Amino acid sequence: MRQIDTIAGLRAAIATARARGERIGFVPTMGFLHEGHLRLVDEAKRAAGCVVMSLFVNPTQFGPNEDFSRYPRDVSGDAAKAEGRGVDLLFLPPVSEMYPTPPSLHVMADDLPTRWEGEVRPGHFSGVLTVVAKLFNIVAPDVAVFGRKDFQQATLIRRMVRELNFPIEMVVAPTVRENDGLALSSRNTYLDAGARANGLALVKSLRTVTAAFAKGERLGSRLGNIGRETLATYPDVRVDYFAVVDPTAMKPVDTASADSVAIVAARVGPTRLIDNMILGEAE
Ligand code: AMP
Repeated sequence: MRQIDTIAGLRAAIATARARGERIGFVPTMGFLHEGHLRLVDEAKRAAGCVVMSLFVNPTQFGPNEDFSRYPRDVSGDAAKAEGRGVDLLFLPPVSEMYPTPPSLHVMADDLPTRWEGEVRPGHFSGVLTVVAKLFNIVAPDVAVFGRKDFQQATLIRRMVRELNFPIEMVVAPTVRENDGLALSSRNTYLDAGARANGLALVKSLRTVTAAFAKGERLGSRLGNIGRETLATYPDVRVDYFAVVDPTAMKPVDTASADSVAIVAARVGPTRLIDNMILGEAE
């Protein structure tokens, strides 16, 4: 595995792989790698001969009161994990390489960023879409792999790929969970034992709702109430939203179907967690 921190260096290494006839697979991350990230590498390796992973904690997707400066970082641990899983090129650009001057234009979607994560985190999705567009232009992959854990993000990136004509195949891989169901997240490192137990509220609410769907409940509003009632049994969990939405427009559904998605975001102490489940899909 080669570690590269300049755009020019990465482009040269990718050109060499292309000259060998390899397809390029790409896994963008903010690092502090866990098994969820590494499964994305497995997917990329299935689709491409050369796998590029980026580790970049992108400042423009964090709000002023969010955790940019204390976001967990472990570059040497990440490099060992990435190499162990078969990443070929690890891209670790400093902020000055990605933003030599303050960004003066952004990729923005019209509607979705005002809902759910976009409503709670103003500016977040334009930061995400802009950095992913930059990375797509730098890497020019054949296939890019994202996690379903960030459902709204994957939906927006899919839309960007289609509407801005990036010639990239998008793969969205299932959420990887701990044995007790907690979705893996770099931010889980913030949770002490008590907060971690409360963090299970999210997966509990999602499982209660998918179980109700499996038993025949189809009314979106009732499924939403079931989720919120489950969350309310955890007094230390502050809910940002729980909803049952359709997978593309992400609007609440009147009548749920197998491809509807239950989405949830909540705070456990200062830590904000998100999770989701497709109603008709067994975990
Ligand atoms: P992050 O480093 O948190 O920005 O995540 C980088 C990529 O890993 C994104 O596409 C995430 O959706 C994905 N990801 C994060 N956690 C998980 C998980 N538990 N299971 C699957 N993919 C994940």
